[in-house]
Formats: sequence, structure tokens, C-alpha cells
Amino acid sequence: MTPFVHNPLPTRVLFGRGTRAEVGAEAERFGLRRPLVLTGAQQASLGRGLAENFGWPHWAGARMHTPEETTRAALEIFRAERADGLVALGGGSAIGLGKAIALRTDATQICLPTTFAGSEMTNILGETVQGAKTTQRGPRIQPEAVIYDPDLVDGLPKAMAAVSGLNAIAHAVEGHYAVDGNPMVSLMAEEGVRAMSGALAAGDAEAALYGAWLCGTVLGGVSMALHHKLCHVLGGSFGLPHAETHAVILPHVAAYNAAAAPEAMARLARALRAPEAPGGLHDLAQNLDAPTSLAALGLPEAALDRAADLAAAAPYPNPRPLERAALRQLLQNAFEGRRPTNNEGD
Ligand code: NAD
Repeated sequence: MTPFVHNPLPTRVLFGRGTRAEVGAEAERFGLRRPLVLTGAQQASLGRGLAENFGWPHWAGARMHTPEETTRAALEIFRAERADGLVALGGGSAIGLGKAIALRTDATQICLPTTFAGSEMTNILGETVQGAKTTQRGPRIQPEAVIYDPDLVDGLPKAMAAVSGLNAIAHAVEGHYAVDGNPMVSLMAEEGVRAMSGALAAGDAEAALYGAWLCGTVLGGVSMALHHKLCHVLGGSFGLPHAETHAVILPHVAAYNAAAAPEAMARLARALRAPEAPGGLHDLAQNLDAPTSLAALGLPEAALDRAADLAAAAPYPNPRPLERAALRQLLQNAFEGRRPTNNEGD
């Protein structure tokens, strides 16, 4: 066997329908008397209800990609309310805001995810400072507890569930060939893709949330590669929507890496119940009516050259070396929404 390191992150997980009722007991377990409940604007009434139940403060200002000014405003509320912990209720945006506050205060975080993005299981924080997105990892960022209650994702609209689920699958795809991967991560990644792909097709919120937990744990456990870099470039420099961009790019990155990571592709194909992984990922997105082209997301074709430059610029580990011309071809294929073939970009 290849030598490996496995360093699991210490997050307590509660899973099951109705477990959101445990949030009070969880807060008590961590010695919290007055945590600040964080949500985005859309989850404001859900958050207010939860906060009022316990007499906790609530702030509904979370925004996508954790802008620094949002964190500053939330920190003022945190201090003014004399909060002693954080309860983040929502998708990656609310959870990201909780992480940004925890980084600056070392406050304990309890997360109640309402999407499948997986941020709750990682020690990664992406923040936007003056329009530029930076990413860091650290122990303060890692949430202490996560409550996965499928009741909270039952209402996720079908289109949002599809792209959010594909976002989760992207973590597991890159976990399969991560430079610092290990057998435990591979098991979770394969099971995560199997659970999520089946759950999305069946509209099964509970199984999808189980898949989200596994895929998020994979993201927290290893380094990501070309797919996450490309999505970072397209989101950060061209303003494309987060989950939708993941949905479009993923099959093309799998195709780009296919010949360089044959074992990963075989496991992925098995998990997707498809003859081969790149085509299987494309078909999954198409069957879920998720976007399959960058053109559909509004990216101008003229942006592809610069996107390829940016993606090729910083070196980072990837099974297949990063070649500018091949990346440009990958982006063209993703722009047009072509069904990928193995070894895309050749
Ligand atoms: P999000 O939290 O912004 O949610 C997307 C939209 O869905 C929002 O409008 C939200 O109000 C709505 N929504 C959320 N839950 C809902 C529900 N149950 N029913 C109806 N609507 C609901 O986005 P996201 O896709 O969950 O997360 C994306 C963000 O998270 C990005 O900023 C991304 O960078 C970050 N992220 C970070 C990590 C990490 O490890 N640091 C991992 C994944 C994603």
C-alpha cells in the first residue's frame, strides 16, 4: 500500500429527523448560554423562531462568499449582544460567517446545515476582501458540532438541491485523487457519491444530507485540485454562481484527469452506477436539469482565455499536469456544454 496520513477533524455530529430540537442541549453541552444565531435573509424567520425559543440573539445578514464588511457588522452584533457562541443555520454562507467570527473570537460553533455544500465539516474559510477571495484553514475555523436534520432540507427547491448536491459530489470526486488522500477518505468519497447521486435522482433529502456529510468530511480531510481551483477562478474573478459553476465544470475536470487517475475513475463510475465517470457526471447533471454549460451561466466566451491563464498560473497538485492549452480546451467544452469524453483537452 502507499504510505498515508489520516488526521480526522474533531467535529461532533448529530444526524436524524427532528435533531434540530437538540440545539439547546448541544449549546448547554458546550457551556453556551447566549449563542448568536446566524442566517441569511431567506432563512431569517426560521432563525428568528429558533432564537426566540431560547431567548438567544439572531442576525440575518449572512451573504455569499463571506464579505469582510459582513463579518465586521456581525462581530459588532456578537459583541453588543454579549454572545458567547455561534449557531449557524443555513447553507455555506451562514456557516462561512460563523467561521469568520470564530476565527476572530475563538467562539464555539454549532451548525445546522440547510444545503449540501459541506462547509460545516471543514476547517476551511473563504473570505472576500475588496472583491478578492482568499482561503485559509485553521483549528478555530472548524465547527465544534453539526446537527444534520433532514427536515431542514426538505424544502430546498429541486433546482437548488441539484446544484448543491453536485457541489458536494465535486468534493468527493477530488477526494478520490487527492495528493494527500488515504483509504478512509476514499471510502467516504465513494459512499458520498453513491448516496448523493442516488438521493438526488430519487428526491430523498435524508439520504442526500447523509451524502453531504460524507462529501463535506472528504473536503475537510484532504487537499482539493483542479476542479476547485477552476471554480474559485470562475466565481472569484468572473462572479459566476458557486454551486452552479461546480455543476458545470465537474464532468470536464473528471475527463481532464481520467487517464491520470484510472483507479479513482473506476471507483467513481461504480458509485455513479455509470459505465464511466465523466459521462456519468454529465448525465447526472442533465437528468437533474442542472446547468451544463458556462454559456448558460452567462459567462462571455471572451473570458475563457483569461480564465485559462488564471487556472494555469498558480501551481497546485493535480493528477494530470496543468497545461494551459488543454485547460483552455476544457473551458471551451464546458462553455459549450458538450458531453465530455475521457482525456478532455488532448
Ligand atoms: P448559500 O448558503 O448562499 O445558499 C444558497 C441559497 O439557498 C441562498 O439564497 C439561501 O438563502 C438558500 N437556501 C439555503 N438553504 C435553503 C433551504 N433549505 N430552502 C430554501 N432555500 C435555501 O450557498 P451554499 O451553496 O450553501 O454555499 C455556498 C457558499 O459556501 C460559498 O460562499 C462557498 O464558497 C462556501 N463553501 C465553503 C466551504 C468550506 O469548506 N469553507 C464548502 C462549501 C461551500
